Amino acid sequence: MPQIVKTSGFILKTIPFKESSLIVSVLTSRAGRIKVLVKGARRPRSKFCGTMEPFNLDEIIYYKKETKEIYTLSDAVVLDHFEDLRINPEKVNGASVLCEFFEKSLALEQPGYSAYTLLYEFLKRLRKTSEELIKPLVLIYLFNGLRISGLMPYLECCVCCKRAIEPDKSVQLSISAGGVVCPGDYDDTVVSVSWQTYQTLVKIYKNKKIQYSRKIFEEIEGFLNAYIYFHLNNLVLNSLKYL
Ligand SMILES: [Zn+2]
Repeated sequence: MPQIVKTSGFILKTIPFKESSLIVSVLTSRAGRIKVLVKGARRPRSKFCGTMEPFNLDEIIYYKKETKEIYTLSDAVVLDHFEDLRINPEKVNGASVLCEFFEKSLALEQPGYSAYTLLYEFLKRLRKTSEELIKPLVLIYLFNGLRISGLMPYLECCVCCKRAIEPDKSVQLSISAGGVVCPGDYDDTVVSVSWQTYQTLVKIYKNKKIQYSRKIFEEIEGFLNAYIYFHLNNLVLNSLKYL
């Protein structure tokens, strides 16, 4: 007997399937990321019309069969369509980056509230963010997203020998070692960032207030791109390129 599951979830990605259906990746509050088949979703009079838009928050009901990887969606109601974000192409782009990150980095059905909660918090903050702060906000949440994937860079002291990092003009972050390194532990994957950028990353990690600076966030972006590429199977976030 299939089990009937009711939960809320964000639409991460949709792929057309057969003539009129969709396969949809949903980040749910109860079951983590799941895949559902939405039969007839692309028909004009489908009851699913408007519910499968990217980053919609929906309440969904699906039939879960243990033997299947893709479940069948039975019903969906939009809880939040984020209209106020959709009128701003930059904000749509920003939301796409986080959706793409979770779509590509989360394994299926790893229950846990954290990715869902993080994406929800991000979208709520994105609503109120001014144009020039969209990209920094995206980078801050991507950085926090790494924590959920268990890949947060280590920043406290040298990740290799645990020596304290002395204040200097620049700090070396090793992509392969997964954190900050002292001069004795430099390797050929180190990315150099300014002391201010390093301090900003520490503040983001500790959830402290930060000052926006274009230069700092350019360095954070460079580091994050290299870090995500290395640790998440050569992952390149296409949506981040357009932000
Ligand atoms: Zn060291």
